[in-house]
Amino acid sequence: MKVIKNTLQMQKIALKYIKDGDEVGLVPTMGALHEGHISLIARSVKSNDITIVSIFVNPMQFDPNEDYLKYPRPVRKDLEICKKNYVDYVFMPSVNDMFPVEHKTFLEVKFLQDILCGAFRANHFKGVATVVVKLFNISCADRAYFGMKDLQQLKIIERMTKDLNFKTKIIPCQIVREKNGLALSSRNSYLSVEERNLSVNISKILKEAAQDFKNKNLNAVMKNAVNKLKEIYGSKIDYAEIINFNDLSPVDKHVKKVVFAVAVWIGKTRLIDNIVMTK
Ligand code: AMP
Repeated sequence: MKVIKNTLQMQKIALKYIKDGDEVGLVPTMGALHEGHISLIARSVKSNDITIVSIFVNPMQFDPNEDYLKYPRPVRKDLEICKKNYVDYVFMPSVNDMFPVEHKTFLEVKFLQDILCGAFRANHFKGVATVVVKLFNISCADRAYFGMKDLQQLKIIERMTKDLNFKTKIIPCQIVREKNGLALSSRNSYLSVEERNLSVNISKILKEAAQDFKNKNLNAVMKNAVNKLKEIYGSKIDYAEIINFNDLSPVDKHVKKVVFAVAVWIGKTRLIDNIVMTK
């Protein structure tokens, strides 16, 4: 496994593989790797000749009052995990190399960037889309792997990939959860033991909502779930919305496949989760 810190060098290496007819898989991450990331890596290793994992805490997707500086960066542990999971290249560029002061180009995905998390994190998805486009160009990836845990991010990247005719195929991956249901996230490390126990309720409530959806109407499902989310000690709901699974648009009564997406603060930690619900 090689660690590459320079954008031009990474692109040169990737181009050579493509020229030789090898297929390249990309797993974009911000590090602090856990089983969720590892599931993406495993899928890439299985389907591609070469797997590149990028580890880059992208300042462009954090608002000024967010946790950019305190975001966990356990580099040595991350590299061990990558090596153990057969990653070929870890791409760890500096902020200056990815976004030098003269950088002027940004990518926006209208509508999708403004709803759900976008309504609470002003430039978040502009930062995400811009960095992902750069990672696609640097890695020349045939396939890129994204978790459904960040469903809005996945939908934005799918849209952008189609709209701009990228050759990279987007591979959605299932949410990996702890046994108790809590969706794995690098931010879970911010939670105290008590907060972690409280957080487990979020996935429980989503699961119950998915059961209710089979025979109750949307409004009843929502009302019940929101009441239960509010009852979690110390919780604050940013949003709890049931929307179309395909394009995250508003749902009407008759739609059969929806997603219930939530962002809930537990103390000082903002957690997101979602569940696909079918009739
Ligand atoms: P992050 O490092 O949080 O930016 O995440 C990098 C990638 O891993 C994204 O595509 C996430 O959706 C994905 N990911 C994060 N947590 C999970 C999880 N619990 N299950 C599946 N994928 C995940």
